[in-house]
Amino acid sequence: MTNNRRLLLCMPHMSGNEMKFIEEAMRGNWAVPMGPHVDAFERALEEFLGLEGTGKRVVALSAGTAALHLALVACGVGPGDEVICQSMTFAASCNPVRYVGATPVFVDSENVTWNIDPSLLDRAISERISLTNRKPKAIIIVHLYGMPAQVEEIRAVADKYAIPVIEDAAEAFGSNYGGQAAGTFGDFGVLSFNGNKMITTSGGGALIVPDEATRRRVIYYATQARDGYPYYHHTEVGYNYRLSNISACIGLGQMTVLNQHLEHHRRVHEIYGELFASEPRIMLSGNPTEKYDANFWLSTILLSRELSIKGREDAYVQPTENAVGGAAAVTRQASDVHSTCEPSVDVEALRLRLSRLNIETRPLWKPMHRQPVFAECPAYVSGTAETLFERGLCLPSGPDIAPDDQKFIVNSILDSIN
Ligand SMILES: *Cc1c(COP(=O)(O)O)cnc(C)c1O
Repeated sequence: MTNNRRLLLCMPHMSGNEMKFIEEAMRGNWAVPMGPHVDAFERALEEFLGLEGTGKRVVALSAGTAALHLALVACGVGPGDEVICQSMTFAASCNPVRYVGATPVFVDSENVTWNIDPSLLDRAISERISLTNRKPKAIIIVHLYGMPAQVEEIRAVADKYAIPVIEDAAEAFGSNYGGQAAGTFGDFGVLSFNGNKMITTSGGGALIVPDEATRRRVIYYATQARDGYPYYHHTEVGYNYRLSNISACIGLGQMTVLNQHLEHHRRVHEIYGELFASEPRIMLSGNPTEKYDANFWLSTILLSRELSIKGREDAYVQPTENAVGGAAAVTRQASDVHSTCEPSVDVEALRLRLSRLNIETRPLWKPMHRQPVFAECPAYVSGTAETLFERGLCLPSGPDIAPDDQKFIVNSILDSIN
């Protein structure tokens, strides 16, 4: 049996209210990168995140990547600086470190939440200080697949050295730790509303900032750093990073179904848990303690070394099309790091089998310290991220995935095991 409809990881889903807000904006001629819907979207985000009384504010931006960039600018990161970054993540977490001319220093994950290892973080910072005589300027942590990092332990290390924390919560909108929203633990928090995230603005993001003064400063940088003169006068380099008012309309529509989306993703995870319960060699990742309340943006599994997948003989990792349609990785050489850090043959065999059944799965994020583009950067490595990358797979988890689809997915996986 094959599915007619391809089951994808996470597709956008509209509430039906988006057009109402867009029409309202068009009637008021608010088709600009500011306006009442941007303001309303920011207030809605602040309310959802429970920011009232904390002093924290939200600035809506054109992308999560832009939010990370402006967080680094606000932290005063510049050429020659070092920024600690979780290695196991999407490249967007650390590319902005390069935008400001700084060097990312990668730190490996612990194997409970798959996020930055607090004790390795401590070691990395103290070693950077003794090697360079300077403190890293910031720490970028990530809540992968919506699972909160060990925020208390990370905060303790960050406070010990007085280094600001930038929390990349792009995948963790709606996740909580100890009842507090992901994105609100760091000095700065980053959200993404890209098409595949928990909600979409068709492309967009937000920066959670510590106070009103920083909010003004971030908006200033996001709008070309224009000084207060009747003519255009600039003392600093700015950016064009504000969210469009039309995108904010989509965001306002999405906020009306955010709780439904969160319920859905958590329910999908619960059902995967039930369906995999009989197979101990497939490990579904889950909340490690009751303090953790992941949004389960994507449900993820690890394949035990004790299983083998049918057809593994034919499975070797082949370059796939890259985002612009060209063949990726054609310039790779045999000695490339890729040859020693890739998904296991079982993961690839399973991915190919499922793909033939019209089920999309994807390996976990390939660690940044194994990416050719960051090969020169310092890295503090325990091997955890590489092992996760070798053994892990993301499963379809989006709003269009029904319980019957999940049964088909899990049965297909169980049928694939020798
Ligand atoms: C999606 C994502 C981003 C980037 O967000 P955009 O809105 O696409 O720029 C950053 N970090 C992580 C971990 C992400 O998954």
